[in-house]
Amino acid sequence: MSWEAKVRTDERSHAAFEEAKQYIPGGVNSPVRAFKSVGITPIYIDRGEGSRVYDIDGNSFIDYVGSWGPLIMGHAHPDVISALQEVVVKGTSFGAPTLIETEMAKLVCARVPSIDIVRMVNSGTEATMSAIRLARGYTGRSKILKFEGSYHGHADSLLIKAGSGVATLGLPDSPGVPEGVASNTITVPYNDLESVQLAFEKFGEEIAAVIVEPVAGNMGVVPPQPGFLEGLRKVTEEHGSLLIFDEVMTGFRVDLHSAQGRFGVTPDLTCLGKVIGGGLPVGAYGGRRDIMEQMAPTGPVYQAGTLSGNPLAMTAGYTTLKLLTPEVYDRLEQLAARLQAGFERNAEETGIPVTINRVGSMVCPFFTDRQVVNYDTAKTSNIDHFRRYFAGMVNHGVSVAPSQYEGMFVSGVHTNEDIDATIEANYYALKQL
Ligand code: PLP
Repeated sequence: MSWEAKVRTDERSHAAFEEAKQYIPGGVNSPVRAFKSVGITPIYIDRGEGSRVYDIDGNSFIDYVGSWGPLIMGHAHPDVISALQEVVVKGTSFGAPTLIETEMAKLVCARVPSIDIVRMVNSGTEATMSAIRLARGYTGRSKILKFEGSYHGHADSLLIKAGSGVATLGLPDSPGVPEGVASNTITVPYNDLESVQLAFEKFGEEIAAVIVEPVAGNMGVVPPQPGFLEGLRKVTEEHGSLLIFDEVMTGFRVDLHSAQGRFGVTPDLTCLGKVIGGGLPVGAYGGRRDIMEQMAPTGPVYQAGTLSGNPLAMTAGYTTLKLLTPEVYDRLEQLAARLQAGFERNAEETGIPVTINRVGSMVCPFFTDRQVVNYDTAKTSNIDHFRRYFAGMVNHGVSVAPSQYEGMFVSGVHTNEDIDATIEANYYALKQL
């Protein structure tokens, strides 16, 4: 391979970060953006277009962060931008119902098997927090069961043994979560049905819900093993608990009908976010009508939001969902498979132990020769290798998440040329380890 890295300058990003740190905790509005775990200056983005982002120093990157998942059709998709331009002049938020909210809800209900009826919120965190409250209200029980290394947003009861940024920064469970709240959260290893069953034997009558990422995406990418989701469905049904799929990341990402469509398991409640907002702040939770109608104003469980369902967010989300056809998912599968095959070839050629997990357009290289099936095996990845690999990718013009515990998101606007250039960058990044 003859391709050479161009020299990347970062003076402007560096200065911007120094200034931001004076006014924003750690300089950032979400922790992993600080690049702390990879020890380099965060890249300040100027703009994005299609599969690329451009930083304030004039560098361009093929992007696999996609705003951490939402941008399944790439940056500044022309349809999304023009739809937004059309509605923004009519006003940004009214705190009153608008027609687009029903259109959006209809589309989500039609495509996600478990969702009869759906409520829009402003983030994935709000979606999971509300779904948990609803599950507790509906069942009259207090405990929830989650999986080690899964991240469901930063609500108190879910910030226990969490993945994503919590794992990236190596933080223990967060201070500020009251003991009384934490004691109601049971955690067991992902893909471990036996531990789930033991937890149900012990606490079965007290467990309101199991919340699970149907593909774990916050400890890297970890697919559910055959029978795992089916087993969760069965054990929750047997004990009168609800099964909640947190599809904030996987919703419309791994299938037109989300992970539940892909794997053929239907939960009671589903949380969505990311893709359904098309790059604007949106979350949603929905599910069985009889459960959802326990929410105010039809029922006693309370949840509300000043900006929920606002026309800009609904328009960006709706336009994005309309772009997602079966052909887009075929394309995502083909591109991501090409990426995986190239990475595997590179690992073999360079002799670096790498295990690549992939589900649809979610791809994650782990620096280990172990099979990665849960958080413990994800942690066998050589973090020093990841750190240097990350710097190599960025220097070769590829933007990936600055964390071993996040996957790459291929978009419908990446090209075969993008994928091949990424495989080449990967080769150099591995070579320099
Ligand atoms: N659930 C999952 C599976 C997520 O991946 C995330 C965010 O990464 C969340 C919930 C929280 O979503 P948000 O960051 O929009 O609050």
